[in-house]
Amino acid sequence: MIEISEFKGKKVAVLGLGRSGLSAVRALAAGGAELCAWDDNAGRRDAAEADGIPIADFYAMDWTGIAALVVSPGIPATGLDPHQIVRQARAFQCEVLGDVELFARRDLASKVVAITGTNGKSTTTALAGHVLRACGRRAVEGGNLGTAVLDLPELGEDGSYVLELSSFQIEQTKSLAADVAVLLNLSPDHLDRHGDMAGYVAAKKRLFAGQTPEQLAVVGVDDGDSRAVFDELVAQDGRRVMAVSGNGPVDDGVFVVGGFLYDATAPDAGVAVADLNRGRLVGPHNWQNAAAAFAIATELGCDPEPVAEALMTFPGLPHRLELVGEADGVRFFNDSKATNMDAAGRALGSFSNIYWIAGGRPKDQGLETLAPLFGNVRHAYLIGEATESFAATLGGGVPFSRSTGLAAAVADAHARAVSDGEEGAVVLLSPACASFDQFTDFQARGDAFRMAASDIIGGGQS
Ligand code: ADP
Repeated sequence: MIEISEFKGKKVAVLGLGRSGLSAVRALAAGGAELCAWDDNAGRRDAAEADGIPIADFYAMDWTGIAALVVSPGIPATGLDPHQIVRQARAFQCEVLGDVELFARRDLASKVVAITGTNGKSTTTALAGHVLRACGRRAVEGGNLGTAVLDLPELGEDGSYVLELSSFQIEQTKSLAADVAVLLNLSPDHLDRHGDMAGYVAAKKRLFAGQTPEQLAVVGVDDGDSRAVFDELVAQDGRRVMAVSGNGPVDDGVFVVGGFLYDATAPDAGVAVADLNRGRLVGPHNWQNAAAAFAIATELGCDPEPVAEALMTFPGLPHRLELVGEADGVRFFNDSKATNMDAAGRALGSFSNIYWIAGGRPKDQGLETLAPLFGNVRHAYLIGEATESFAATLGGGVPFSRSTGLAAAVADAHARAVSDGEEGAVVLLSPACASFDQFTDFQARGDAFRMAASDIIGGGQS
């Protein structure tokens, strides 16, 4: 745990008792703060109270003398429509901040890598942690991924924190000076909370604001909005900025072409450092993640050869274009984490002969943005609330079925793939939607896909 003693002897209120809120309670209590907590969910309040956490009704509470309100990233604290409790606290000059801000203010001697972007954050965070450890470094990853930041161990001078940060977490953080700050890509997401694309980009961009001149900004340049951020940073005096790309050369950066990774900053820039086709990172989007992880590790002083080797041994993360297995020559890929159009587009671009399971609770964008990739889809199986809107977009262009559920879709997709007999056929769950209409979260959806696929694999011919 990372102890927070900044509020020793002072009153601190913690709003939101999920993973990060509970970790903040522990870290602040260990540092001697006087705590009270609240969650709008009664079940969470009861569970916290049973654990000895003092609960107070934040709606009715007198905020006089409360030094800080720590909010979970899921709770809007800035922007168009802050939570009512946040507004009440501010009216009493109470400081509002998140757990990453508490971490940043400790100003630990360890290195800090902060990774954001619309897609690929978790993969890049886990990959960078894997690479750093393979190179003998003490590295831990957390934040939006896995362990809440204040639950991570104190590492000391030779350690590295690799933090995945969402736009919500960045919004609640102003003191973070990351040794390496990474923006992977930008496409429309969470616009309900950020107002519009400009608001979303501004939130992500703030990650670079606290960096000092010797610290490195790494920016993916494979989409227009991110390239604009790159150009803006390059134009700032005395900034260290590096471009990364998963699908084409960049000057003075790290890039991948056809799976071959190059470091344009190295003396022998023309020689590929790694052949990613030998590893499990499939597709240009994952190559972008690999380029970023390479840039991170070499910036932290690792030698290029072991870094390249470690990129090849990364096992991948569950639910991200995860190969579940094969039956009758048909492979099953679980990409349940593809909750937006951009992520699903990456999967559709990674294969031909796709038997595609899509749908769930639709987000802001329509399916038409993926039309250029429909040629890779042999048949679509639609599930959940998006069924009718997706059916309307697919129209006569792509054959589709309305499935009664995920398990039925997997069975039907496999059966059709086998009878079509196309080379390299894949049954792909890449929903382009949130899961909440049918599942508790994307993990539960991916697990259900895995189970349905395993039933077929277990009973299949191969
Ligand atoms: P995040 O943590 O940002 O949600 P993940 O690593 O969990 O990202 O991947 C989420 C989805 O995005 C997966 O479907 C994955 O295949 C896809 N994806 C991964 N990396 C990228 C990238 N660099 N660009 C676009 N899509 C990506």
